Amino acid sequence: MDKKIARVIENLSKNRIKVKYFTTKEEAKEEILKEIHPEMKIGIGGSMTIKEMELYEAIDQKINPVYWHWMVKPEERPSIFPKAQYSDLYLASSNALTEEGELINIDGVGNRVSSMFFGPKKVILVCGVNKIVKNYETGVKRIKEIACPLNAKRLGLKTPCGITGKCNDCSSEQRMCNIAVTIHAKPALVDLEVYIINEILGY
Ligand code: SF4
Repeated sequence: MDKKIARVIENLSKNRIKVKYFTTKEEAKEEILKEIHPEMKIGIGGSMTIKEMELYEAIDQKINPVYWHWMVKPEERPSIFPKAQYSDLYLASSNALTEEGELINIDGVGNRVSSMFFGPKKVILVCGVNKIVKNYETGVKRIKEIACPLNAKRLGLKTPCGITGKCNDCSSEQRMCNIAVTIHAKPALVDLEVYIINEILGY
């Protein structure tokens, strides 16, 4: 295993955050599906990683209700967010994972970041190795220079990062980075686990 990955695993564990390592997304997907027992309610946060893994499609929704705002009309989203937040298992990714064992997340609405530390019984954050950064500063830089421009492009937003690919700390109504949350150690009431996958996933 790469030394950088080993350091993240060691430091997440020191911060009492459970962590599992997988070589492929298929292995991680299988493990997540094993965590899902009958009648558990599943919430999903906005995540290209979860989408690329096709987890939504893999869960049998006759047995397990799945709440994912990406799958409903915009006007239905406000009623889906709390159902996802108070689910039995919440699936999402983190924007950056530091070698010091912290999770950095930036959100526009805040549903995803708040569900990481309060609400669900269990949270699994699935991260490709592309999410690993040295520290907080490089994590924020990664989010502003890589994640936000790609997300803005995907969503067709007219933010400066969406138009030019560069952040100018805008005050746009479409700004995606309104809320920043760093998880330094295990949240008191959530069983938080990070799955690190040795692949490039999401952004
Ligand atoms: S502050 Fe504005 S320009 Fe910068 S990343 Fe966020 S949305 Fe994009």
